[in-house]
Amino acid sequence: MSSFVDSLLAQVTARNPAEPEFLQAVKEVLESLEPVVQKRPEITKLKLIERIVEPERQLMFRVPWIDDLGVIQINRGFRVQFNSALGPYKGGLRLHPSVNLGIIKFLGFEQIFKNALTTTPIGGGKGGSDFDPKGKSDNEVMKFCQSFMSELFRHIGPDTDVPAGDIGVGGREIGYLYGQYKKLTNFFTGVLTGKGLGYGGSLARTEATGYGLVYFTTRMLEDRKTDWKGKKVVISGSGNVAIYATQKVQSLGGKVIALSDSNGYILDEEGIDLKTIQRIKEVERGRIKEYLSVRPKAVYTEGCSGIWTIPCDVALPCATQNELDGKAAAILIKNGVIAVAEGANMPSTPEAVSQFLAAKVSFGPAKAANAGGVATSALEMSQNSMRLSWSFDEVDSKLHGIMDNIYTQAKNASEAYGLSGNLVAGANIAGFLRVAEAMIAQGVV
Ligand code: NDP
Repeated sequence: MSSFVDSLLAQVTARNPAEPEFLQAVKEVLESLEPVVQKRPEITKLKLIERIVEPERQLMFRVPWIDDLGVIQINRGFRVQFNSALGPYKGGLRLHPSVNLGIIKFLGFEQIFKNALTTTPIGGGKGGSDFDPKGKSDNEVMKFCQSFMSELFRHIGPDTDVPAGDIGVGGREIGYLYGQYKKLTNFFTGVLTGKGLGYGGSLARTEATGYGLVYFTTRMLEDRKTDWKGKKVVISGSGNVAIYATQKVQSLGGKVIALSDSNGYILDEEGIDLKTIQRIKEVERGRIKEYLSVRPKAVYTEGCSGIWTIPCDVALPCATQNELDGKAAAILIKNGVIAVAEGANMPSTPEAVSQFLAAKVSFGPAKAANAGGVATSALEMSQNSMRLSWSFDEVDSKLHGIMDNIYTQAKNASEAYGLSGNLVAGANIAGFLRVAEAMIAQGVV
């Protein structure tokens, strides 16, 4: 590492102690930017990187609510408004007991570059809470969402900050959050994305992250002169991203043989029956092991990490951060994986990423490969502003075009900086340059 990047990293570490995920995300981006910093001295002079690693605004707030037994519960809410150089802050809300400021900052930081890559006019932000929706009644989830929005509403708006879903936030939660926003402000406006179709949502938003991931991976496979037909695919998670990635892979002739949840994973050599998974996870909010009651020949294993020991051609981690480590990467490589693309945010550890790159496995980093969700959120914002609704095919074809463009940007940037084949560096560089140009134009603010 150059001394510039080294000292910057030391500075960020000292200013943000006890935020390992944020520091991991910053380190990855800074390392990629080394050749850019050398070629463009104004980046150092204008302190662009020092500015970009510092959120424009961070909010932390109390979220009190009363559960079904009448007991008062207190959670902590977060919204990090990271960078608005390219447009209103945009990024999801995560509801999971592991949520803390460092996790939200890592997600918000990644979001800046991801959103830039989509070329839509949106800045980067992220939010959430340590509330655990698992095991809560609909009424409890509603009470929590209403309390959360009772504080958040004063900081967001269709031209200021537009949150969306993430882990633990799907259509149900967005509905409750939107209802409360509307009650408090008296505005029916596109302040959240991922809304229901009946009140301003966009067709294809639900499918977008998973479909976009597969469109991106298709380009990776094309560069290896191959496609999805007959490929064995392992996907982790069984939430929004995993389900629609599975659907698209299957429609293109690939065979998805494994999925997981936070308790364990299923292996179905005959190919996953997606309708059963959707019933269990989307309708009944159940556990993935229930799959065996419909497909008794499938095998369930308790614990998630073993999913990467299943031999496959393509691996799509779609669950959570750091779920695929160096050991898992080594096994995937030994078993002949040719492509890995990240549906989740930062699911591969740095050790895993360097092994994939060294072994010439095609590797699609999250901020490029999973940008389809936020890109389609931006399309939802456009439709809300125009008071129009596009058809499913119209949105899907725009999404496809955006994912193709992201791939091309990342590939071209990697080649322009002598890092051919390294889409991690390419995506970081292309995303950063877009934000940097806007920041330079807007002065020191
Ligand atoms: P969901 O809440 O819909 O699903 C998350 C899935 O991951 C669930 O199946 C959950 O299991 C599983 N999971 C959680 N933790 C673990 C773990 N430690 N090991 C194995 N499985 C686990 O979330 P999404 O599908 O929306 O999000 C998944 C990832 O994709 C996140 O990293 C998110 O940030 C990222 N992402 C999502 C986008 C979107 O549009 N939704 C956009 C871009 C990125 P369980 O059912 O047990 O909780």
